[in-house]
Amino acid sequence: MSAYDKLVFELSSPGRIGFSLPESDVPGRPLADVLPKKFLRGAAPALPEVSEFDVVRHYSRLSRMNYGVDTHFYPLGSCTMKYNPKINEDMARVPGFARLHPLTRPEDAQGALQLMHELAQMLAEIAGMDAVSLQPAAGAQGEFAGVLMIRAYHASRSEKRTKVLIPDSAHGTNPASTAIAGYEVVEVKSLPNGEVDLEALAREVGPDVAAFMITVPNTLGMFEPRIMEITEICHAKGVQVYMDGANLNAILGITRPGDLGFDVCHFNLHKTFTTPHGGGGPGAGPVGIKAHLEPFLPTPVVVKNGDAYALDDKRPKSIGKLQAFWGNFGMLVRAYTYIRTMGADGLRSVSDNAVLNANYIMKRLEADYDVSVPGPCMHECVLSARRQKKQGVTATDIAKRLLDLGFYAPSTYFPLIVEEALMIEPTETESKETLDAFCDAMIQIAREAQENPAIATAAPVTTPVRRLDQTRAAREPNLTWSPKR
Ligand SMILES: *Cc1c(COP(=O)(O)O)cnc(C)c1O
Repeated sequence: MSAYDKLVFELSSPGRIGFSLPESDVPGRPLADVLPKKFLRGAAPALPEVSEFDVVRHYSRLSRMNYGVDTHFYPLGSCTMKYNPKINEDMARVPGFARLHPLTRPEDAQGALQLMHELAQMLAEIAGMDAVSLQPAAGAQGEFAGVLMIRAYHASRSEKRTKVLIPDSAHGTNPASTAIAGYEVVEVKSLPNGEVDLEALAREVGPDVAAFMITVPNTLGMFEPRIMEITEICHAKGVQVYMDGANLNAILGITRPGDLGFDVCHFNLHKTFTTPHGGGGPGAGPVGIKAHLEPFLPTPVVVKNGDAYALDDKRPKSIGKLQAFWGNFGMLVRAYTYIRTMGADGLRSVSDNAVLNANYIMKRLEADYDVSVPGPCMHECVLSARRQKKQGVTATDIAKRLLDLGFYAPSTYFPLIVEEALMIEPTETESKETLDAFCDAMIQIAREAQENPAIATAAPVTTPVRRLDQTRAAREPNLTWSPKR
């Protein structure tokens, strides 16, 4: 074990110190004279005794154990780990934005309000919606806000609807946020190719159904070909239609949820609109709605009166406030910068390239892996490791082996309707060289599975930790890793 593998506590040397201050020239007083006894420690805290240099090296080393889009390819399906342009960061750090106090009077925060107003309008135009709330701090909270607005809408018409229909291919947040909003979740079975079963849907929609919630493109990476019929079937029965638009990468500038008949749609700025994500950091999941839902928007709403911007919180039918202050404002600045730097044509090319890249990967891998649904995919493709499983190598093993070969793992075992699923989203920001290197690694793993399955089942061998007990690692994380532990 080298010094570099140690915990900062293990680097500790008695008496070593990271600072030096001149002796105080005022008389000292014992702490017990200043603080009530109950606030005083019985013993000194067990802090590591290290130099400033020890600390710098320690944290620099830890930072290099990190894995992210800025260092490696990250083909995580349904998560859009694309490049986050650095100009976004510059803009988010402009002192007028970064240092603006959240309690600043609206009269003195006109620039920030203008940015929020314009961003909401741009997102509304991109999605074909009539209004957008920027408040939700995540996709899941966007869903929650959207479902609450649907609930308030039905209540305003004195309709008692208790169920929300969700396909079995849905992202886990869909049933979760719907249930938290007070609805019974009813699962609708998909057809074998992942599309909505229209007959099953028509059987389920009725006067007790509040909404149908669906992801487009669906979680198999396919565009729902009969989407217009789906929204019509729902509307004919007074059912609101919700589009999970967490990943709009495939359709920017090509089609719009509003034009497809959706009443509500949320966006993940931390996916499609290049604000960084991962590790539970701040996100933003704005939610767009059609005009009939406007009275129910979360408050406050940024409004424009003449040339001035203001915060409107006198909205009696609002579902209320979702966030402290106005949401994760820094994320809004980043997304605004991205949309303005890309322009309309740039956003359209995002989708063209995202779809091209995913199809390139699917084509290159289709001889070695089973493809969940044949035919062109949208911005992501779902493969199955069915064949490899028969050889003793599961989707998990493939994911772990990829780590050794220098790639982040795709999403695995999602969507749930595909056996041994490997969901790959390359994004539009990767070059052909990177896609080829990834495909080469995947093909190598398929060959190894035939010849020597033990290579994948023993992986990873090059990472700081090997296979963890995944449940325990999530529930009882041991954050004081060291080889001897
Ligand atoms: C990421 C994602 C969500 C949830 O977004 P969070 O910001 O993680 O809450 C919902 N639906 C789909 C399809 C997603 O990919």
